[in-house]
Amino acid sequence: MSSIPNAPHDDAPQAPGAERDATDARRVLADQVELLYRQAPIGIGGALLVAALVVYELYSPSSRDLVVFWAFVALLVAAARFVVVRGYLADAKRGAEPQRWLRWFAIGALAEGVVWGFAAAVFFPSISDEQRVFLAFVLATMTAGGLPLFSAVWWVFALFAFGVIVPFEAVLFTYGTRLFSELALMIPILLAINIAVAYRLNHIFVSGYRLRQSYGRLTQDYTALNQQLEQRLVELDAARHQVEASGRKLALFAERSPIPIFELDPEGRVLTANPAAENLFGYTAREIIGQSSADFLYPKEESASVAERWAEFVRLGQPVASARYQNTRRDGVELVCEWSLTPLVNQEGHVISVIAQGRDITQQLEAERMKQEFTSTLSHELRTPLTSILGSLQLINSGVFGELDKDVAELTQVAERNGQRLLDLINDILDIEKIESGKLTLFPEPMPLEALVEEAVKLNQGFAERYHVKLTLAENLPGVTVNVDVKRVLQIMTNLISNAAKFSPRDETVSVELHDLGGDVRVAVNDRGPGIPENFRNRIFSRFAQADSTDTRQKGGTGLGLAICKRLIELMGGRVGFADREGGGTMFFFELPKHREH
Ligand code: ADP
Repeated sequence: MSSIPNAPHDDAPQAPGAERDATDARRVLADQVELLYRQAPIGIGGALLVAALVVYELYSPSSRDLVVFWAFVALLVAAARFVVVRGYLADAKRGAEPQRWLRWFAIGALAEGVVWGFAAAVFFPSISDEQRVFLAFVLATMTAGGLPLFSAVWWVFALFAFGVIVPFEAVLFTYGTRLFSELALMIPILLAINIAVAYRLNHIFVSGYRLRQSYGRLTQDYTALNQQLEQRLVELDAARHQVEASGRKLALFAERSPIPIFELDPEGRVLTANPAAENLFGYTAREIIGQSSADFLYPKEESASVAERWAEFVRLGQPVASARYQNTRRDGVELVCEWSLTPLVNQEGHVISVIAQGRDITQQLEAERMKQEFTSTLSHELRTPLTSILGSLQLINSGVFGELDKDVAELTQVAERNGQRLLDLINDILDIEKIESGKLTLFPEPMPLEALVEEAVKLNQGFAERYHVKLTLAENLPGVTVNVDVKRVLQIMTNLISNAAKFSPRDETVSVELHDLGGDVRVAVNDRGPGIPENFRNRIFSRFAQADSTDTRQKGGTGLGLAICKRLIELMGGRVGFADREGGGTMFFFELPKHREH
C-alpha cells in the first residue's frame, strides 16, 4: 500500500489525531485506487471480448470501414489502458501516488465509456432493428458491467457511464421515433440509479477500507503493546533475580554475622533468628519463631514496660540505635544488651517488620566496673601513701632535719621529683577517668577573672623561675566576671603556663593576656617555644599525646594535661585552642562566657 510523500497539509501544524486521520484517508484512497487497477484487466479483457462480438455481429461490406475504424479505436483505448495498468503496477511497488494514478484511471474509464457511446452513435442509425436491440443490450451490459469494476470510486463509474450514455442519448433523441424517445427518457433514470448504487457501493468500500486500516493500526498497537509487555516482563524478571540475589546475600550476612539478629513482626513476634542469636540466648530459631520476644528475652517484671516501649517504637516507625535492655538467657543468666532496631516500612508508612541487631555488653560493663574499682583503689591505696612519702621527702629536703650529705641530698631530691611526677600522673589519670565517666562534679561560682588570673600567675612564678623564664601578666581585663569552678580554672592555667615555661628557651618571657570578645572572654598564654609540629596539631588534645616522646623524660609531663584542660573548659561552657605566634612560639588560649547578673 502506498502513502503520499508530500501530503497536502504538511506545512500546517496538526494535532497528532488529525495527522493520523489524514494518513488514514490517504491510505484508504490508495486502497481504492489499487482495487480499481487490480480489477482493470478483467474490465479491459471483457470489453475486448464484447467488442469482438460487436464487430462480428455488425460487420457487413457496407459498414466495413466504420466497424474496422471503431474496432481500431476500441483496441487503441484498451491498449492504452493496459499500458497505464502496467505502469501503475510497477509504480505501486515503489509506493505510487494514488491521486495521480486515479486521474489516469478516470481518463481511461471515460475513454472506454466514450468508445461504447461512440459505437451507439455511429452504428445505431444504419443497422437493423434486431441489431439495434443487440446494441442496446451491449450498452446496457457495459454500463452494468462497469458498476462492480469502477464503483470503488463512484465518480469514475459516473464518468464511464456518461461516456457510454451521452452519445447514445443524443442518437436516440435525434432518431425521432416515439419508442426511441421514450427509451432516451428511461436511460437517464437507469443511469441515475446506477450512479446512486455506485455511490452507495463506494461508501461501503470506503468503510470497509477504513475498517481494515483501523484493524491494521489496532494490530500494530497491539504488537507494540505486546513488545512493551514482553520488555517489562524481561525487566521484571531481571529485577526479581536481583532481589532474590540481594535476599540471599542478606540472609548469608545474617547467618554469618557474629552479632545476634532477629526479624520481628510489628507485634514483636519472632519471624527469623540468626545462629548468633541462637547461641547467645540458648534457644533454637524453631523454638522461638512465632513467640513474642517480650515473653522470653526479658525478665518477667520487665515485659510490661518492654511491650509499652515496643508499641511506641512501632507507632513512630523510626530507627532506634543503641537502646540498652536487660535480657535473660534460657538458662536464666541475666545479660545487658544494646539493641539497634530498624523498622521496615511499607509505602503507606506502616511498619511491616523490624530488624533487631543486638550487642551483648555485659562483659564490657563488667570491665568498666572493674576499671572504676581499680581507679578508686589507685586513688586511695596509692595516692595516700605516696602523698605521705612526698611530704616526708619535702621535709627532709627543706633542711628541717639539718644539712644532708651532698650525695644523699641529691638522691632525696631525685626521689622527691619522681614522687611528684608519679603523683601528678595519678592525679591526671584520676581526673580524666572522672571526667570521662561523667563523675566529675564542678562547683561553679561567679568570680572576677582578673583576680583569678593574677592568682594563677602568682602560683606559677616558682615554676617559671625553675625554667629560667619570666612570667608576666601583660594585659588584664578588669571588671569581667566568669561563672567557673575556681580550682579547675587554676588547674587549667597552671597546665598552660607550665607547658609554656617548659617549652620556652631560657630567659624568654611567658606572657598571659586577657581579651574581651564581646560575650566571651579569652585568656591567652604566649610563649617563644618551638611551636606545635604540623603532624601533631590534630592530636594535641588527645589523651597521652606528646609531640616528642622524649619530653616525658626531659621535661616531665604525662601527655594528659591538655586533654584534661579541653574537657574541663568544655564542661564550663567554653573552648580551648592554640595558634602560632608571629616571631615564633605558640599561643594557647581558652575562652569562657562572661557571667551576667540576672
Ligand atoms: P604534658 O603533660 O606532656 O605537657 P600536655 O597535654 O600538657 O601534656 O601537652 C601535650 C604535648 O603538647 C606536650 O608533650 C608537647 O609536645 C605539646 N605542647 C604543649 N604545650 C606546648 C607549648 N606551649 N609549646 C610546644 N609544645 C607544647
